[in-house]
Amino acid sequence: MRVHLTATAAAAVRRGHPWVYRDGIAGGGEGAERRGERRRGERAPRGGGAAASGDVVELSAEGAPFLGRGLWDAESAIAVRVFQRAQAPALDERALAERLERAFALRDGWFEGRDTTAYRLCNGEGDRVPSLVIDRYDRAAVVRLDGGMLEPWLDRLLPHLARALGARGVRSIGLRARAPSAGGDAEGKKLAHLHGPPLPDRLFVRENGVAMEVDLARGQKTGAFLDQRDNRARVRALAAGRRRVLNLFSYAGGFSVAAALGGAGRVTSVDSASAAHATAQRTFRENGVDPAAHDFVTADAFDFLEKAHARGDRYDLIISDPPSFAPSERARPRALGAYRRLHTAVARVLDRGGVLCAASCSSHITAEDFLATLDDATLARDDLRIRAIHGQPEDHPTLPAWWEGRYLKFVVLE
Ligand code: SAH
Repeated sequence: MRVHLTATAAAAVRRGHPWVYRDGIAGGGEGAERRGERRRGERAPRGGGAAASGDVVELSAEGAPFLGRGLWDAESAIAVRVFQRAQAPALDERALAERLERAFALRDGWFEGRDTTAYRLCNGEGDRVPSLVIDRYDRAAVVRLDGGMLEPWLDRLLPHLARALGARGVRSIGLRARAPSAGGDAEGKKLAHLHGPPLPDRLFVRENGVAMEVDLARGQKTGAFLDQRDNRARVRALAAGRRRVLNLFSYAGGFSVAAALGGAGRVTSVDSASAAHATAQRTFRENGVDPAAHDFVTADAFDFLEKAHARGDRYDLIISDPPSFAPSERARPRALGAYRRLHTAVARVLDRGGVLCAASCSSHITAEDFLATLDDATLARDDLRIRAIHGQPEDHPTLPAWWEGRYLKFVVLE
């Protein structure tokens, strides 16, 4: 299968961008970019129409008979994910297994001596294995596939995975369901068994010496937000000597327990999901911290902030890590408004001399855009400075051209 790209899409592929959107295919459908691209006498291009998800496609463009190889996705907005740019012999399971081995081998030394048993083994595009994410939770690994192109490959890849991961102490492999099932069965199991002993529904992992309960069966992402590992360690360091800490959108309490262990007097965790607090409390206990000495509030964060302000409550360390407000480019303006409202409300309960850690996990919101939602006018104060801007950890690598992969912003204001 050959797929002919528009000039714009071809330039992106040359830069190393791993995605070809459907309208990046010359003559493949409707869309302004494509018009005028078709040469005289060229037959109506199929745009991959005959291909099935998982098929290998060869990419070409005007003046470039071979740009690289990718896998076709018949359903998602991304029609092709690009795996090879140079003239490699073939795109087959051996080539994929080699890429995976490289991703795993890189990490072999990274966590040595750090008392960390949960990390990302493969970050898809960022590890040059587009659409394949593998997270390790101690002896279990959870695979997530973005889009449908690797589904037909999974059976063939599994023996390679089992061998490579088994050599590193992983015994069970599970597959995270692609999307929450239609009809909103949000509480349903999202994990399918692929290999080895059955995966536990819940387990404790360790992260920089801290125990964390992970809900593999029902948790968010593949179970936990591993991308905040380094930032949790930062919060732990920032918490020393703080009297009152507020962790908004606390989920399983990762930042909360970090703050408590770091020496904070009282930590208030706010999340709209009460099940998340139950997890957080077990994590507190596992680390020898009495949850009764802290607060777990099931509430909407905006409501909570309004009431806290009305009560005159003040905090000297606040962490705000909301879910993605901008899942798409279209949602951007509304998302920026939501971040602004959130930060305005947060600033009102932040003590003078306090520290604010504000996070965003939306790739559609750039760091500069996000910082603008923390400016003096929004916060209605002029005593804060940006102490640091952090992102995702090294087990979540990206590519220079793949800006979408750099989604995490973690801004420390003091
Ligand atoms: N900080 C967490 C990850 C946060 S995920 C960590 O490091 O692990 C986002 C969380 O926000 C989810 O647990 C979700 O239940 C919660 N949430 C979503 N909307 C909310 C709202 N309006 N108010 C409070 N919590 C909310």
